Amino acid sequence: MSGPGFDLARVRADFPILRQEVRGRPLVYLDSAATGQKPQAVLDAITRYYTHDNANVHRGVHILSERATQAFEDARETVRRFIHAKDVREVIFVRGTTEAINLVAATYGRKHVGPGDEVLISAMEHHSNIVPWQMVCDAAGAKLRVIPVDERGELRMDTVDALLTEKTRLLAITHVSNALGSVNPIKELVAKAHAKNIPVLVDGAQSVTHFPVDVQDLGCDFYAFSGHKLFGPTGIGVLYGKLSMLESLPPYQGGGDMILSVTMEKTVYNRVPHRFEAGTPDMAGAVGLAAAIRYLEAVGMQNVSQHDQWLLAYATDALQSIPGLKLVGTAPHKTGVLSFTLEDVHPHDVGTILDQEGICIRTGHHCAQPLMQRFGVAATARASLALYNTREDVDALVKGLHKVKEVFA
Ligand code: PLP
Repeated sequence: MSGPGFDLARVRADFPILRQEVRGRPLVYLDSAATGQKPQAVLDAITRYYTHDNANVHRGVHILSERATQAFEDARETVRRFIHAKDVREVIFVRGTTEAINLVAATYGRKHVGPGDEVLISAMEHHSNIVPWQMVCDAAGAKLRVIPVDERGELRMDTVDALLTEKTRLLAITHVSNALGSVNPIKELVAKAHAKNIPVLVDGAQSVTHFPVDVQDLGCDFYAFSGHKLFGPTGIGVLYGKLSMLESLPPYQGGGDMILSVTMEKTVYNRVPHRFEAGTPDMAGAVGLAAAIRYLEAVGMQNVSQHDQWLLAYATDALQSIPGLKLVGTAPHKTGVLSFTLEDVHPHDVGTILDQEGICIRTGHHCAQPLMQRFGVAATARASLALYNTREDVDALVKGLHKVKEVFA
């Protein structure tokens, strides 16, 4: 791998939070799969919005409302460009991936999943792409079916054809596993599902941060992601849906902005995407997310991907050189996520000792308990990489892990 593909020192300098010392040491942040840090451009955009433009959108005739509406709708267009959606109306602002999936469950699920039907997910889903479907299936008398995962953390593609049946109403699958980093062959899965007229929802929470995503090329019907993982603010996320699909669905929540007219007898619902955006949206969040996307576009998502693969290769070698460390998830096609166990040290102890060294990682089940069960562990330690991470961060992690071993020797 040739290197990061961009000026890493400059990118790092754009993230003010990384400049601090914690516990008397330079901060090493290796928890970006949980949430990403924010570049100055995002902080500035949010401040600028609140300082100059803030008003409620879509309602006022005054200049500030016009500006806020413009900023909000410009953000929608920025998202459209980023994921290569065909039409700006295909971008719905939500709170995050969780809400995006729940929106599809509450609309598509309620309309199309009935008694005896099936919803197909995979064994590597985050709880937010399991529980909403369990709820839909419980309510409808339908069955949740699961694509298994092999020892390396790859989807068992050989099982998919048989699992997509005439009863399957939806395939809901993650693009990238948050716990393992495995990248799923979405295009192939979509082709298989569409051949049987089954729509596909993709959980993109961990993919948009690592490589370019083109929803038209993937062909999926829905794509969900969170702003905060994409180096934008918390509280904002996106549901992409194909226009014809969105237009065929009932509304999600009821309230202001999602209506064209209301009488006590009848409500006429607004057009897509507003039909799915009841109430005052997170305008500043959308503006911040758009700034994060522009930042990533300036770095270049291909370069971000090159950096990810370069650092992942370095980190994989470095971690594998530690005796007693076992990587969980070794799929050949993966992103910068390193889940591991270290002898029989509890992952929480690993995380606590690393914290004393100023190193932030994640420990636990990563909201993927069924996947942990699949690998026979209750928890793992997880270091996750982002565009601002360096080889020095990985070196600090390795040094910290040797310290953990010393403590528990
Ligand atoms: N899906 C995946 C793969 C994730 O990694 C996460 C968050 O960790 C989610 C869904 C849920 O995202 P959010 O909590 O931002 O809604």
